[in-house]
Amino acid sequence: MVAKNPRSTRRYKKAVKDLRAKGDAYCWRPGCGKYLYADLEWPHPLSITLGHLVAIEDGGDPYDRENHAAECIACNMADGARRTNAKRRGSKPARQAQPRVIRTSPHWE
Ligand SMILES: [Zn+2]
Repeated sequence: MVAKNPRSTRRYKKAVKDLRAKGDAYCWRPGCGKYLYADLEWPHPLSITLGHLVAIEDGGDPYDRENHAAECIACNMADGARRTNAKRRGSKPARQAQPRVIRTSPHWE
């Protein structure tokens, strides 16, 4: 199994730094699109966090810049909580039951 949390490595922290170095950005999550400020520090709600277009848990590359996008803290934590809850229920997030198109809906949780 995975021995180390990829989010705690120096390489990952560098990726976050690079993302913020690009300047202000919008949260990439459909239905959010919050304006984020590169000079704000975590845990400010409008600071930039590193989001993954394809979640690491879904096989996304944690270090691939192509897979990185600015994400607000609320979306970042909401996604983590959703996955944690799914694990607690003893089931994986139902990918078949949640096609991508639902993620683009403004009504998506
Ligand atoms: Zn957001």
